Amino acid sequence: METVSVAMTAAPKSLPILSTIFKLSTDIRETSERVETNKSQCEQLSERIDTLIGFLAERDLSRCLNEAMHIALNRFEAFLRRCLEYISTFLETGWFKRIVNNKDFEKKFQDLNRELTQYSNDLNFGIGLNNMQSTKKQEENHYTDNYSSDASQNPATMDESHEYENDFIEKKTAEIADDDEHSGIAARQVPPSGKNSPFVNTARSAGNIEQAQQSVFISGLWNYAYNQYNLAYGPFPHQLVFNSTTRKLHGYGEDNVGQYILNGTFSEENRQMEMTQSYQYGTGNPTLNLGHQDKMQLNWNAQRKIFEGVAYSNVQERRCRCLSNNSSCWPNASVWQTFNESINGQLIFPKPSAAVCNSNPPNVNACITVTEKWPNSFWRSEQAGAMQSAHWENSSCSIFFNSTTCNQGSVPILAVNATLPEHVQATLQLVNRYNLRLVIKTTGHDFSGRSTANGALLLWLHHMKNFTFINNTLSCTGENISNAIRIGAGIQWGEVYKWLAQYNLVAIGGASSTVGASGGFLQGGGHSLLSRWKGFAADQVIEYDVIMADGRRQTVNSCQNVDLFWALRGGGGGTFAVVLSVTLRTYPSPSMISCIHFLKPPNNTRYASFVHHFVQLLPTLADSGWAGYFYLTMETFTLVFFLPNGNNDIANTTINQLMNNFTDFNFKQPAYHSYPTFISFFVKILESSSATGNNVILGSRLIPEIIIRNQPNQVADTFLQVKDGNGSLLIGHLVAGGKASDTTQNNSINPAWRTALLHMIYARSWNDSTSIEDQEKLAKLVTEKVEILQTIAGGSQSGSYMNEADPNERDWQQKFFGSLEIYNRLKSIKDNVDPNGIFQCRQCIGSDDWSIDLNCPKISNGNKCYLVIQLLLIVMSFLFNFKI
Ligand SMILES: Cc1cc2nc3c(=O)[nH]c(=O)nc-3n(C[C@H](O)[C@H](O)[C@H](O)COP(=O)(O)OP(=O)(O)OC[C@H]3O[C@@H](n4cnc5c(N)ncnc54)[C@H](O)[C@@H]3O)c2cc1C
Repeated sequence: METVSVAMTAAPKSLPILSTIFKLSTDIRETSERVETNKSQCEQLSERIDTLIGFLAERDLSRCLNEAMHIALNRFEAFLRRCLEYISTFLETGWFKRIVNNKDFEKKFQDLNRELTQYSNDLNFGIGLNNMQSTKKQEENHYTDNYSSDASQNPATMDESHEYENDFIEKKTAEIADDDEHSGIAARQVPPSGKNSPFVNTARSAGNIEQAQQSVFISGLWNYAYNQYNLAYGPFPHQLVFNSTTRKLHGYGEDNVGQYILNGTFSEENRQMEMTQSYQYGTGNPTLNLGHQDKMQLNWNAQRKIFEGVAYSNVQERRCRCLSNNSSCWPNASVWQTFNESINGQLIFPKPSAAVCNSNPPNVNACITVTEKWPNSFWRSEQAGAMQSAHWENSSCSIFFNSTTCNQGSVPILAVNATLPEHVQATLQLVNRYNLRLVIKTTGHDFSGRSTANGALLLWLHHMKNFTFINNTLSCTGENISNAIRIGAGIQWGEVYKWLAQYNLVAIGGASSTVGASGGFLQGGGHSLLSRWKGFAADQVIEYDVIMADGRRQTVNSCQNVDLFWALRGGGGGTFAVVLSVTLRTYPSPSMISCIHFLKPPNNTRYASFVHHFVQLLPTLADSGWAGYFYLTMETFTLVFFLPNGNNDIANTTINQLMNNFTDFNFKQPAYHSYPTFISFFVKILESSSATGNNVILGSRLIPEIIIRNQPNQVADTFLQVKDGNGSLLIGHLVAGGKASDTTQNNSINPAWRTALLHMIYARSWNDSTSIEDQEKLAKLVTEKVEILQTIAGGSQSGSYMNEADPNERDWQQKFFGSLEIYNRLKSIKDNVDPNGIFQCRQCIGSDDWSIDLNCPKISNGNKCYLVIQLLLIVMSFLFNFKI
């Protein structure tokens, strides 16, 4: 068979040493075809050399021919001479020579292969040549060369072991093929026609036409093209070398993903080839090239004279994340510098919020300011490092006592202060390339600490503050929508309300000014004092603009990325993609009536009667349009209720109904007040009310409307049983029911919300000086209290709101997402959009596949098809290693 020499076709004439190197490689190849013993070892070494030389031939070496490269090339030439000399020793036959040649041959070949890999590094290719070292070949050699000279060896035993092994591999391959079929993994479809045809041999010339008629497997340059997600890529030049003796193929090339090497087999009889395309990590497009492998299966199309087939992506195995304390993988200073330049210098160093108080020397004035601002949620959201519930910073820095060991805690040491989509994309690229742990943060409000993580790189979106008003828009489904708004990731609800006031509009948002409008709040569902009036915040989403885990920017709506659209409206923040902006519906601003009472019942008996009366009246209050919040401590009951677009008479009547029999309570506030617009109400009542900065843990349950209507006394008794003293609060949210019960909404909001009337939270706070042991006791208490709430929430199938939930919730998959069926649907969407698990957060979709600190994948996630594929490789190499 004619072999088109990779080396000779492309040798640049300007470098004499290269001609020598290419000549030596040809001699090695020809010699290995003629050797009498250890033939496959020789051929294998020769093929690896050819691959390396192929890369060499592709380079414009004149541009990088420095001193180091000169030395490397000279050494490589000397190495090739040694290889040729060694391989030539196997040309001689005879039993004596065979024994001499077999002595230590494995080790010698291993040494040469290892050395070759070193040259690959020295020559700066980073080619994973190890992949090309087939242990199976060594094994075959071992049998052919050793046992053929040993008459006492029982051939039957040998054959049996081979049969077993082949059988085993076939079975494994079949299993994987089955899994691939059912996996839903997108097959990379090679285009059936057109000039992008894959594997068109461009090496055919008049001289080899005769041979081409016999064999379609011709070594040389091929064109390769593929289709993915309806997009065509290529053609790309692609070197292939077919070995007619071993029926193995090797090659290399570079496509839009990166440089790769190819290894596989071919069959002349079936005119098929199968190969693994191993991308070389660090080459090409960092967002696409994960150092992964694709498996190609191609058949000869005699009519079109091309190979066609499919490729299955074998995504890189999930690995433990590289954390900032690991200098062996964490990017070095020059990488950070280059990265920082690429993001316009937006790299910053976050600090825990109390850091200045414990600095060395302490900054007294700065610390006074920090102490004053400690509970201010605006001040907190303006710092990359600060969390609203301070304990999630997990730092020893404190405003309450002086710590000599003020540490970083769980605050990442580096953050990207993103202001542009490109900053987010560059961050994802870096994270993918270096396998970094990533956390996304907008405001740090998360009650489960999901927006900070020790050792991570922080993507801080606070300064992405774009607002766009969209007068009229046609949705992708053809709906005409007026007065939509597009808001950037950093926008907070207070800003939305104020900005919309100029148009006399309102959006369905949070009670706190500082909660992010498009981050965890929205993606987790988002309840509002207006949600009974117009539905949940996530029900208002028209479209998202996102950056995917692989760095691609995508539009997500009812027509594009439909599954992701469903998941991003209830499935939780920090899980599926980075939201750059969201387009939301708005509504004409309602007038508001507020009713605020701070009640101090004279005794426990009166307290209990009031709670019973209140719960009995709740359906009436709800039917009249009231929404709002109520708070129970051991001795007090606070009512903060609102009536959007309400009628004064109805407000009067219903509140009178509530309070009439409780005139002995200590009323300190006016019963109710009217506001002409939402903004006038918001500024007066809510804007300054969201104090944070405390250490707090909470747990929650959604209480079904039917239970409140049918079993009010049991509900009231449960509230009384749960309410507590000493820094605890039982919080009721009357934010469900009404329009929030709209089950026609096709999104992933926990279905328990749709049947609920109340959302009940038990919250517990503690001081910085509270011991870890006592904190654990409090956490346990929260779990116990929630279990009591569960008795009126539907028992074991009850639901909880993921954004205001117990970080130790046991069955969080069912509790936060409604059922395991919904959870699994969300998980399969997560696996599709983020197969490598770049986005991780506590009790978020897919986090159960990772260690508790979310830094390492668990091994037991065998239902991932790409891991099954990995399993084959592991099993095979284990088998071979074992036999060797
Ligand atoms: C004072 C206070 C008031 C609250 N009021 C309400 C309320 O009225 N209604 C209600 O439903 N909830 C309320 N919450 C709970 C709130 O919904 C959660 O705290 C929520 O996680 C806040 O989202 P965030 O983006 O502001 O916070 P962050 O802590 O910044 O982020 C929360 C989660 O979302 C992820 N995330 C943030 N931004 C993005 C993004 N752009 N793309 C992808 N992921 C992102 C983060 O990684 C993290 O996992 C309140 C909380 C507090 C502390």
